[in-house]
Amino acid sequence: MSSKNKKNPQKPSQEGPSNPTPPPGEQPTQPKANKPIIVDIHTHMYPPSYIDLLQSRTTIPLLRSFPGHPSPRLVLLPSELPLLSHPSPSHPPGRPLTESYTSLDAKIAFMDKHSISISVLSLANPWLDFFSTSPDTTTTTTTTSPDTINAAAIKINTEFELMCQTHPNRLYFFAVLPLHPTTTTNLTNLTEIVSSLTTSTFPHCRGIILGTNGLGLGLDDPALDPLFHLLQDLALPIFLHPHYGLPNQVFGPRAERGEYGHVLALALGFPMETAVAVGRMYLSGVFDRFPRLKIILAHGGGALPVLAGRVESCLRCDGFLYKMEKEGKGGRMERSMGEVLRSQVFLDAVVYSEVGLRAAIGAGGEGGVGRLMFGTDHPFFPPLGEGEGEGEGEGEGEGQWGSVVVNREAVDGVLGEGSEEAGMVLGGNAIRILNLREEEGGEES
Ligand SMILES: [Zn+2]
Repeated sequence: MSSKNKKNPQKPSQEGPSNPTPPPGEQPTQPKANKPIIVDIHTHMYPPSYIDLLQSRTTIPLLRSFPGHPSPRLVLLPSELPLLSHPSPSHPPGRPLTESYTSLDAKIAFMDKHSISISVLSLANPWLDFFSTSPDTTTTTTTTSPDTINAAAIKINTEFELMCQTHPNRLYFFAVLPLHPTTTTNLTNLTEIVSSLTTSTFPHCRGIILGTNGLGLGLDDPALDPLFHLLQDLALPIFLHPHYGLPNQVFGPRAERGEYGHVLALALGFPMETAVAVGRMYLSGVFDRFPRLKIILAHGGGALPVLAGRVESCLRCDGFLYKMEKEGKGGRMERSMGEVLRSQVFLDAVVYSEVGLRAAIGAGGEGGVGRLMFGTDHPFFPPLGEGEGEGEGEGEGEGQWGSVVVNREAVDGVLGEGSEEAGMVLGGNAIRILNLREEEGGEES
């Protein structure tokens, strides 16, 4: 580690990087008028060791190259697995894994192109979930041993930390955790890994990215309590991100045949997955047991902002839970879901519309604008290259990325271009909530 990085950012205080109320005298960082600092908290990469991992696999998720296609393809979906045996020359399974997913230079170029000052990097899905959900029977026991998975997480986090050190003041990251069924018997190792994220070894870590799978049983699994306890104590926020969507049959046989591409799975499946995951956490009492645990929800909280009231309504009228409460067996929460959203939950602004953005702001109540943080979901949803003759494009187009432009326009449209509130969402909130302090000798963006 270079000496300049030893002066690096202070880790979050016990109050946490996500304390919604700044201490007296420390007001939220405000951007300069008309030239907001833009912070992207939702931006992914696959570092080298993760690519190696995917290339070594023979079942999803995996990485494969196909003749006539310049980029290797990332195959994530179970429905694409049969296509691996007989891939169509023009439509091989998966999506092209361009250098935008793997190259730090490409990430910085993207940031510069869109005037993004700071990015908080995270490993893109499916993280290390596949070790717990789809045992790879083609690999050896050694490959999937807990020690190997722990080592993979440490290596990935180290690679992210080194990327951040290459561009001080511009890059931070959310770490990945080695969650898998054997973690329950291996909590000491997990505790050590999580605790290390707040040490000088990982000075640019600002939280962890987490899927909805947990240890294979979802995030309402009591076995996760020690992890939530630790994250709360260390003031490390969770960046909760969907991956599984909804079962493919929900979308009908035509979707199962691939006629609708990935649109329904991504646009509708992902937001429901997020809402269901948080709903399960809420009903299982996670937020009551860990009231200082902070969670940042991807994609503006998915469907949750517009459905939280319905959850509350159903809870009020649920006879079974009412009876459980009367018998002193739980059943009711100490706070409404709305109160949880206003106190423990933060949202990114990756919602692509003014209607969705208003819902995300409304979910946070009066302080909703202060709980929203800009993101791009780069490098997913690229501008498509021309003349590739393929739905997803083999390469990326030259223009601005629609995910950036549309999300930026939604912020400006709802809050007013150049306004103080727009500046908070575009960057000020993230700087405050994630404690993105300026480093000595850092880069100017
Ligand atoms: Zn994402």
